[in-house]
Amino acid sequence: MYKKIQILLVKMGKLVVCVAVVCTAAVCGAAAVLLMMRRMKNCGEWGKAMAMLKEFEEKCATPVEKLRQVADAMSVEMHAGLASEGGSKLKMLISYVDNLPTGDEQGLFYALDLGGTNFRVMRVQLGGKENRIVKHEVKEVSIPQNVMAGSSSDVGQDVVGELTKAMERVDLDVRVAALVNDTVGTLAGGRYNNPDVIAAVILGTGTNAAYVERAHAIPKWHGLLPKSGEMVINMEWGNFHSTHLPVTEYDQNLDAESLNPAEQIYEKMISGMYLGEILRRVLCRMAEEASLFGDYVPQRLKIPFILRTPDMAAMHHDESADLKVVGNKLKDILEVPNSTLKTRKIVVELCDIITSRGAHLSAAGIVGILKKLGIDTLKNGEKHRSVVAVDGALFEHYTKFRNCMEGTIKELLGDAADSIVIELSSDGSGVGAALLAASHSQYLGLDES
Ligand code: ADP
Ligand code: MG
Repeated sequence: MYKKIQILLVKMGKLVVCVAVVCTAAVCGAAAVLLMMRRMKNCGEWGKAMAMLKEFEEKCATPVEKLRQVADAMSVEMHAGLASEGGSKLKMLISYVDNLPTGDEQGLFYALDLGGTNFRVMRVQLGGKENRIVKHEVKEVSIPQNVMAGSSSDVGQDVVGELTKAMERVDLDVRVAALVNDTVGTLAGGRYNNPDVIAAVILGTGTNAAYVERAHAIPKWHGLLPKSGEMVINMEWGNFHSTHLPVTEYDQNLDAESLNPAEQIYEKMISGMYLGEILRRVLCRMAEEASLFGDYVPQRLKIPFILRTPDMAAMHHDESADLKVVGNKLKDILEVPNSTLKTRKIVVELCDIITSRGAHLSAAGIVGILKKLGIDTLKNGEKHRSVVAVDGALFEHYTKFRNCMEGTIKELLGDAADSIVIELSSDGSGVGAALLAASHSQYLGLDES
């Protein structure tokens, strides 16, 4: 017996503690032998769990060289998407926003944020150069499940028309001035606060980016060049794809079972809607194949999207010695009554792998944009300052995601890191929409006179 155990000790390296417990129990007779056999089986399962963890980590790996390839690919795809319609999976949509806010805008505006999981109403009073934003209030209503379940085109189709009709019905004298993509809105809001803002990124339920492009660098644009010489491009970067993306079988399954298979692959590796779901899928497989939670598979683990990214963030951020938060989340969400510390540690490890990958890939995407603009390196020691405005609760509240993303951008930029600033711009999109409505209504005024 002891010999066998000693072999186990040698072979299993990290599992010494587990076997040592068996040694002391084994001297107590037959019952102890049974116990030991069970424990040895558990050790085998545990070894399997560790092997699955290691394999997942390797498949998700994003070393710096790979991230440079992703950044290069992003920049190449940007060129292709600007060259011709359908030239890339990146749509690179021309937003027709060729003038960003200057600060002169005035008036009272309401911005409705219809995207994602919440419905936000913002009231923005703009006071011109002197007074800037006088008032900015936000009311948030969660979108009812039945509305959420509707296809996105129900909400996207002629929103302006429907909204106008609805307001006429209740006798509201409000004119719908503009329908603005949230990323473009964030860019406008960011620019209003800081003239150095050149790009905006959304990291919330989904992910997207917009940036200011030189109009002559948009071959697919055949109209008159705008006076400003600039055009905001809505990249729709969630749909970015490259063979350099570390796609695992969990990602493939998630994609295949999603509402939009083969689309938004980059978004499915990064954004808040999916990070928790990737975690659920890995945990489910580990429960089935390596008895991560003991002899049974928690049935709730089989329910898609039951693990939400905010819960994942709470587990990832748990700093208590016994990982109490992790234990409670497993109990409350998955109905796992008692989880062992080593299981909790695996959960945290998985959170880290999934979130780091997402943060690394979004960092590479941002560096790709900077590369396209030629500001990812310092040229002749020239100094400049460029700001990327970021909005979205994933970036705002998932601290480990945010720190990891910012650190990776610095690492990828090297010497040029000092000239690039990543700035949180919460509610930037609502304020930005109000600002764009303001500049748009100036044109409407001209038209009517
Ligand atoms: P939207 O993207 O829908 O416009 P938000 O920017 O508020 O709205 O993002 C909401 C998403 O952000 C949620 O779906 C969730 O995935 C993620 N999120 C919200 N809070 C947190 C949090 N504390 N930690 C991690 N992710 C969060
Ligand atoms: Mg939003």
